[in-house]
Amino acid sequence: MRLQLKAFTIFMFTRLTILPVISAFLLSASFAANPTPKPSATSPSTASPTASAPTKAPASPAPKLGGKQVVDQTAQTIIFCYHRFVEKVRYPGTEITPAAFEAQMQMLKDKGITVISLQDYLAWRRSEKAIPPRCAVISFDDGWKSQYEVAWPIMKKYGYPLTLFIYTEGVRGGLLGGGEAITWEQLADMRDNGVDIQAHTATHQDLREGHAIMVFAAGAKRTKTKLTGPQYEQWLQSEVVAPKQLLEQRLAIKVNCFAVPFGTYNDHVKEVARNAGYEAMFTVYGQPLTFNSPLDSLGRYAIEANKPKVFADAVKMIGTSTGGATAVAEVGTAQLQTQPADGETVRTALPLIKASLSSMGQIDPASVQMRVSGLGVVPASYDAKTGTLAYQVTQKLRDKTCTVFISAKSEGKKVEAHWTFGIDENAAATSTSPSAPPKK
Ligand SMILES: [Zn+2]
Repeated sequence: MRLQLKAFTIFMFTRLTILPVISAFLLSASFAANPTPKPSATSPSTASPTASAPTKAPASPAPKLGGKQVVDQTAQTIIFCYHRFVEKVRYPGTEITPAAFEAQMQMLKDKGITVISLQDYLAWRRSEKAIPPRCAVISFDDGWKSQYEVAWPIMKKYGYPLTLFIYTEGVRGGLLGGGEAITWEQLADMRDNGVDIQAHTATHQDLREGHAIMVFAAGAKRTKTKLTGPQYEQWLQSEVVAPKQLLEQRLAIKVNCFAVPFGTYNDHVKEVARNAGYEAMFTVYGQPLTFNSPLDSLGRYAIEANKPKVFADAVKMIGTSTGGATAVAEVGTAQLQTQPADGETVRTALPLIKASLSSMGQIDPASVQMRVSGLGVVPASYDAKTGTLAYQVTQKLRDKTCTVFISAKSEGKKVEAHWTFGIDENAAATSTSPSAPPKK
């Protein structure tokens, strides 16, 4: 277990048994790597959410695969969406009390669900970063000042990252920004403290053609009109493209996410959003998100005061859901009698990799797969009679460490295992094991 723990701490791979101590580490590691955009007034392009990170204990880089990490693709994330935080709920469809909100944030902690940033979820989708197996993302919609005054302090207390989805005319001073609206100064303060700010249109309306649209004439005069053809297209641009530009320029940030008002859109709206440069689009049809969830319709759970069950169910879903994938059981590496052993350092970059899968139960031989960090899926040979899976590396492993992933189907269930060994071609004749005290 000690060796596995080491592999965990090095790579943030998070598959096996999660001990509290590991969870705690992952939590802090995840925060250490959280984006804290440091916007610069002169070069907005440097404000990429991944451009800078706090200088806390950086994790060693995970194995790379053509510039990409080998990440655990079975992790899952649920995204929550909140609106207003008030002591006395009058509109339970969009409001929640601070106490109820805090209880939910506490519940995530108690259930061992790691709150990660939305940008970390997307980095995982790009195979740039590993995330813990069960994650949550917290987002606030529409830009209410209670988000800044009431809920953000609670988020800070827990050290949770946060994403805001802002509709630009709803910011104080905008066509729809009244006294309860968040201000640009508050947004800038949140940005300076690591809050991720993303787009949610300009005027928060149904984006599909054919719907009556509230048009704002000079002097904030409002008329409801059905726009069609070029007029509709122009309006759509002003709702999808313009808010991204406005947020990016006004706050010197990078906007790559788009939350669709009411979750109502269609393929044309998606296309316009994609062309505008949005990497991900969000609805309010909550579901556990996996590595393969379509990036143009990522469902969030909208949490309302009168439906506390939505939150509880979402937490349950990520606890038990297989998110479309098969249930995964993890096998300890000790049972696999791996070669090289977990934590061992070998003196060749062309090792023979072997494992005994007999402890995995009745295995479907066709389902057996071996993945090697730096190489990807390799043509390993599986001997069903002995239960031995073997692969002779033919292409020099270039990293100092190598992680091997094995997966197979056993009685309809996916079984997985992984272990890590070191490579040091120049090592002395006696190979060193990480469990041995370092010689100085
Ligand atoms: Zn909204």
